[in-house]
Amino acid sequence: MGETSINFAKASSAALQDQQLRGNFRRAMDGLMSKRAVQFADTAEWNGVRTLGASVRLRALSKLPELLEKLEANCTKNGIQVHWASTTDEANAIVLSIMQRVNAKLVVKGKSMVSEEMHLNAFLEKHGIESLESDLGEYIVQLDEAMPSHIIMPAIHMNTKQIAHLFKQKIKEAEYTEDVAQLTDLARRVLRKKFATADVGISGVNMAVAETGTLCLVENEGNGRMSTTVPPVHIAVMGLEKVVEKLEDVPPVISLLTRSATAQPITTYVNMISSPRKEGEKDGPNEIHLVILDNGRSGIYADEELRNTLRCIRCGACMNHCPVYTKVGGHAYQAPYPGPIGSILMPQVEGLEKRGELPHACTMCNACVEICPVKIPIVEIMGRLRSEAVHPGDAVRGAGSHASKAEAMVWKGWSMTYASPLAYQFATALLAKLGNAAPASLPLLKEWTNVRAKPRFANRTLHALAREKGIPDV
Ligand code: SF4
Repeated sequence: MGETSINFAKASSAALQDQQLRGNFRRAMDGLMSKRAVQFADTAEWNGVRTLGASVRLRALSKLPELLEKLEANCTKNGIQVHWASTTDEANAIVLSIMQRVNAKLVVKGKSMVSEEMHLNAFLEKHGIESLESDLGEYIVQLDEAMPSHIIMPAIHMNTKQIAHLFKQKIKEAEYTEDVAQLTDLARRVLRKKFATADVGISGVNMAVAETGTLCLVENEGNGRMSTTVPPVHIAVMGLEKVVEKLEDVPPVISLLTRSATAQPITTYVNMISSPRKEGEKDGPNEIHLVILDNGRSGIYADEELRNTLRCIRCGACMNHCPVYTKVGGHAYQAPYPGPIGSILMPQVEGLEKRGELPHACTMCNACVEICPVKIPIVEIMGRLRSEAVHPGDAVRGAGSHASKAEAMVWKGWSMTYASPLAYQFATALLAKLGNAAPASLPLLKEWTNVRAKPRFANRTLHALAREKGIPDV
């Protein structure tokens, strides 16, 4: 592993020891899973809308360069200024230059995963600009000086009591209360003042429509609408894959997104932004800027198999159903995008040298694939990245960076055992006889027994049981 690599194993091991965190996640994920299941109870309807959603995303990706040009042309026609950034550094520099031109000191932000990818808050702070998250979950993690732990519910790792303590500690006028309505009201009062005085509003983009030059934003709290309409300047940041072809593509994707993410048929607000304030209009910003970020996406796009990663509509359902994410939580991934989608996206964006552990943070159970509303073959891509981590290829940065001699020997031994019926029968018979006698502290076994009970080996092999029942070996 390279020096700059992220240590998922260490972070997840620490998370597994944290009973409070595990409890918070278990409760939250169980709730989300069952609420989502109600939304898609009709299997035929789920299959239909899912096929439609996947085809919208596939069609958009098949014409991506053309649609991006069209989006730029139509946004420009509408008065939205479009900027292109190849890297997060370039995107940050573009945002800063707009801020400096208008002499901005305070920014209010709606929720945006791309701005997390850019580490925009820290960057602006370095340049003397206060950047305040206005989504309640993002506001909470910002107060806590932490990262979001989920792409839809950034503060899902915390319970009410923890949030109550945090507010008391960090907000001057706060009285201690565990009443959710009072906590929300307190955050609202703090944010209201900031909306009124902010120089710039920043938001993400859920979808950008090429044929009309429209930016779509879904949200529940109204903070997105405040951030994009009250300050005189609005800057929207998006990854280049967020484009769709037509306005009629928006409803099926929104329906899949909101039902998969928060189990709502539709969110409280759906914002469709098409231009800055026009003459005679009473509200809206005077300037709108759209920053379109590449950050490795065009490399992903160039590979037909990996390109499927870019279909993602960031609903978070794969996380809620992932047996790894639901045990260790989002912070263990130390990435803006955790869970299954993060495990395939991050290594492609930042390279396997740094993110090579993430494709291994997967049991290959396929739960994410079955739940993904746009049918991304996450597990197949995970397998491809695991293979690239060992065999040098040219599509993913750092391919071959995790080829270690010891691991290669283990896999060679496994494949030899598995390929020979005799060797396989000998190995399983040995485990049936001696497996239970192995101490839980054995180096390899310890990885498992650290946080779980030691597995019990059956005292007869499957072959032996089959023979007893008169089933012949084939
Ligand atoms: S990979 Fe699929 S399930 Fe996961 S966030 Fe993206 S669209 Fe949702």
